[in-house]
Amino acid sequence: MKTIQFENQKINVGKIVCVGRNYVEHAKELGNEVPTFPIIFLKPASNLIFSTEKIQHPDYSHEMHHEVELVLLIGENIKDADENQAKSAIMGFAVGLDMTLRDIQDELKKKGHPWTLAKCFDGSAVVSDFISAQKYQYKGNEKISLSVNNELRQNSTLNLMIFNIVEIVKYISSKMTLEKGDLIFTGTPSGVSKVKISDKLVGEIENIGKLETEII
Ligand code: MG
Repeated sequence: MKTIQFENQKINVGKIVCVGRNYVEHAKELGNEVPTFPIIFLKPASNLIFSTEKIQHPDYSHEMHHEVELVLLIGENIKDADENQAKSAIMGFAVGLDMTLRDIQDELKKKGHPWTLAKCFDGSAVVSDFISAQKYQYKGNEKISLSVNNELRQNSTLNLMIFNIVEIVKYISSKMTLEKGDLIFTGTPSGVSKVKISDKLVGEIENIGKLETEII
């Protein structure tokens, strides 16, 4: 069981729901169409690690990519939420990494198979500490960045998301119940690239959080 320390509470992490292709430039860099509705996939909570923990590179992939993303912490159970319910269900924010085995994903996409094995492996979801949505007034235009060995690879702003955070929560809740402790990874901007063993990664969202990890 993975738990998040959030203010004075320990919260059990439920499912991790991820949004794919939520920035136009990222969809284009992988040769994909810009979606007209959010693309959703899941990761198990057991994949989650926290800032300063290390990511073990799976030996069956030769192309692991970083994807830096805004992460939402859900604070209440919701189903078919309207806009207000979706907004108030967001309890916290963090910066996260949706690590992806791009070579495996490309093979799976060709065959029309689910992305599961490209997206789900131990350490594939990394998060910083969470900041409270009650204490931090989310603006939606914060800077988001990722560097590898101090070299900037991803550098964007959250207002370039195709679907904003309320639209994402509302949409997911129209398909499945969201529960307290669920996490939502909201998609990555352009600049995804390959990492190798011993690389040091630092992800940051302005005013929200910072994480660091290493590939081993
Ligand atoms: Mg992603």
